[in-house]
Amino acid sequence: MKRTIPAGYLVSRTATRGPDDGLGEWTVRVGDHVLDPACPLVIAGPCAVESREQTLAIAREVRAAGGDMLRGGAYKPRTNPYSFQGLGEEGLDILAEAKAETGLPVVTEVMDPRLVEKVGAVADVLQVGSRSMQNFPLLREVGRFGKPVLLKRGYAADLEEWLSAAEYVAREGNRNILLCERGIRTFASGAYSRNTLDLAVLAAVREVSWLPVLVDPSHATGDWRRVPAACSAALAHGAHGLLIDVVANAEGRRTARCDGGQGILPSQLRRIIREARGEPRLRALRP
Ligand code: PEP
Ligand code: MN
Repeated sequence: MKRTIPAGYLVSRTATRGPDDGLGEWTVRVGDHVLDPACPLVIAGPCAVESREQTLAIAREVRAAGGDMLRGGAYKPRTNPYSFQGLGEEGLDILAEAKAETGLPVVTEVMDPRLVEKVGAVADVLQVGSRSMQNFPLLREVGRFGKPVLLKRGYAADLEEWLSAAEYVAREGNRNILLCERGIRTFASGAYSRNTLDLAVLAAVREVSWLPVLVDPSHATGDWRRVPAACSAALAHGAHGLLIDVVANAEGRRTARCDGGQGILPSQLRRIIREARGEPRLRALRP
């Protein structure tokens, strides 16, 4: 089985490592934080920022559940040009408010190289979506901008193409890259699963690259009922963290303008985080 990436890649495990912060291989920084290799990172929030009320409500739940960062798209990559495209600048303002209130760093997508500065003024991590994974001008631009990048795997990209996209970012001097597996297209897609979560790629990434790799169980499965098991499976297969869609309540699944059916409830998020971090199920009755 061929599991190589071109020799000399900055993102390759053998060629080099991230800046040495004394934590060994896993040294990606977000702002003034270094991500901890021993504890799964949990990024959660709405698929799309749809309103101030919706986003603030979910952000508070993510904070209360112990999530590390807030996700939410202001600019949405939609297959159908008539579908809700995101609130744009208004969405960025809402994310800024959610960040100010909760203290959660914000992860949000940028699709257009011309908008990197604008989105990057609010984002703590710039998300490059599955459909943009091989938008090379965008990769260069987010690389130059310098904030951490969450690079989703293209839904038809192999490992070398994915890591080559990461290399575009790294060679601009930005090694704060989080990879994110979000399901690939197979004959199952649209039949019984939105995409197929490629669990095997996690070990393969870890073998050839020092970059952390997250899993998005929401866009992989497309169904909130499948998300908890996909989270457990991802962590069992070596994922460094999770990127999860959340709705504020069951009504939110029906009313969401984007991907409501894959959003988990805050109560489920709390359970997932508790299990991911291995906290004891039984608690002492007295402190
Ligand atoms: C998202 O995470 O909001 C998203 C659009 O995902 P993907 O790029 O993986 O489809
Ligand atoms: Mn979505």
